[in-house]
Amino acid sequence: MPVTAIYPGTFDPITNGHSDIIERAARLFDKVVVAIAASSKKQPAFTLEERVAMAQAALADLSNVEVCGFDTLLADYVQQRGAQVILRGLRAVSDFEYEFQLASMNRRLAPKVETLFLTPAENYAFISSSLVKEVASLGGDVSAFVHPKVLAALQNRLR
Ligand code: ADP
Repeated sequence: MPVTAIYPGTFDPITNGHSDIIERAARLFDKVVVAIAASSKKQPAFTLEERVAMAQAALADLSNVEVCGFDTLLADYVQQRGAQVILRGLRAVSDFEYEFQLASMNRRLAPKVETLFLTPAENYAFISSSLVKEVASLGGDVSAFVHPKVLAALQNRLR
């Protein structure tokens, strides 16, 4: 049976750290769905449509990866898509507590779905969307951390 993994997140915007995790997952699973949460409570810098378009551009070379937006409970969305796996990234011990809590809640809500964690290459472990936005807004060079389309969008939005 083909195995589908869903990689949920805010992706505000997608970084090379996210893409590193997605490339690894694309080699492991038949299909990877990058599920971009509307996350309106987090007041994202980019609209859902913008975040989806940036992720599609950054991941265009990966044929078994699909990008879509969602605005519902993740556990419901995963079951609706017929996925078996929720994928999350772990950068440092500081990510662990929140991720463990989230995985436990999702197990209660969707007992048949497993949460799996991947770690990025070392040189991506310090990258986060929020730090990239902060550096870019102050005129710092973030070209090593994001896709060129994301870089252009950051320069338009934040400077
Ligand atoms: P969320 O709001 O759900 O945390 P994010 O887009 O910030 O959304 O992150 C989505 C997932 O990607 C999380 O599991 C996060 O830990 C992981 N992640 C974010 N940046 C990186 C990175 N540089 N390397 C590996 N994983 C990452």
